[in-house]
Amino acid sequence: MSEALRTAEILSIGDELIHGSNLDTNARWLAQLLERHGVAVVRFTVVGDDPVLLEAAMREACERADLVVATGGLGPTLDDRTRDVAAKIAGGPLWFDAPSWQAIQDYLRARNRPIPDSNRRQAEFPPSAVVLSNPVGTAPAFRVRIHRAELFAFPGVPREMKRLAEDHLAPWLAKLPGAQPIAQQCLLVLGPSEALLGERIEPFMVAGREPAVGVTASGGMLTIRIVARGRDRAAAAAACEDTASQIRPLLGEWLLAEGEATLAELAVLRLVARKVTVAAAESCTAGLFSAKLAEVPGVSAVFLGSVVSYANDVKISALGVDPALLQRHGAVSEEVTAAMARGACERIGARLGLSVSGVAGPGGGTAEKPVGTICFGLCLDGAVTTWTLRFPDLGREFLRERAAIELLAAVLRHVP
Ligand code: ATP
Ligand code: MG
Repeated sequence: MSEALRTAEILSIGDELIHGSNLDTNARWLAQLLERHGVAVVRFTVVGDDPVLLEAAMREACERADLVVATGGLGPTLDDRTRDVAAKIAGGPLWFDAPSWQAIQDYLRARNRPIPDSNRRQAEFPPSAVVLSNPVGTAPAFRVRIHRAELFAFPGVPREMKRLAEDHLAPWLAKLPGAQPIAQQCLLVLGPSEALLGERIEPFMVAGREPAVGVTASGGMLTIRIVARGRDRAAAAAACEDTASQIRPLLGEWLLAEGEATLAELAVLRLVARKVTVAAAESCTAGLFSAKLAEVPGVSAVFLGSVVSYANDVKISALGVDPALLQRHGAVSEEVTAAMARGACERIGARLGLSVSGVAGPGGGTAEKPVGTICFGLCLDGAVTTWTLRFPDLGREFLRERAAIELLAAVLRHVP
């Protein structure tokens, strides 16, 4: 290839992907790898194992793009047709690669697995293909020039696909002349709506700006993603930081954190760094906050445990909440979340206690406390803070999720 790649497409192959039983996570992973190497991914295609549709999809992708990365359909069975279809489009018969067949047999023998003759098919390749060996499975991958495109064909199994892409695709990309690495920087924002944030940083979001700035909403948070190209990684990263430094002052307290990590990862990192142990008392979230913490490896260093205190009786018995408070203020009140947070600290023995109690609906709302009213409590080394938020009533799942996120954000806000 004499010049830098202009466009790349990803072709995901397999009936399980179009039947909705499996999510196409390969494309997403590959797109991130390609982006890191400065390659613009312009299209994902998902196609089943049907040979006619597969042929059309592969032919079109190879006519449009400079690089096509395909996954799936390299297995030993007759419905694995990536090889045959690539050979047909390349205009020649499959050829048999004896060393690959040897490697497949060695791989199976080393695992005491039978060596069916059908596996021989996996040692066949389209004309003039370059064989890419597979140390973690039976199916070797290949790379072949078809029309204007360089086509890489990898197995569908994500673990194998990743290993082969790292072994064979990444080095190939790095050697391309004029490769323009991309750097990314993320600012995590909590508080404003997407529209409000968009207005605040509008001048940065115009199409065609370099570095590009975009906003995505997910998990109740907004991520501002800054993407820059440069002659090398350092130059691209410097361009990102230049834009980030202009955006930061516009965000004020909306800016929660920076980086690629999830909110849960950031919260856990902070707690571990400050050596603050944590416990929770969860009513309407019923453990969702704790579950999010538990997704992060290493959380056991700081997370002691939680009480799911859905019923008032449990708030009283397990957390020591005074029944009179419940009587006077109701379960969804800052008085009660204060007592719950303190109770979590005292009963569980943590420095930081977080609590939540809210009206998740669909019933239970009142004029004073409509569905979506959620009270929070936080107790750090004995000092208690409480606050109430009123979320839109977008359903129980939304409200539970939003409340759990608020508690993760509270960790970052209150544990400096
Ligand atoms: P082989 O791995 O033997 O070459 P293959 O490439 O056809 O065969 P499949 O047997 O179709 O792979 O799929 C193997 C596994 O990989 C399945 O669990 C499938 O769901 C998963 N898989 C395939 N394609 C994808 C994809 N695009 N994203 C995520 N998982 C996938
Ligand atoms: Mg398949």
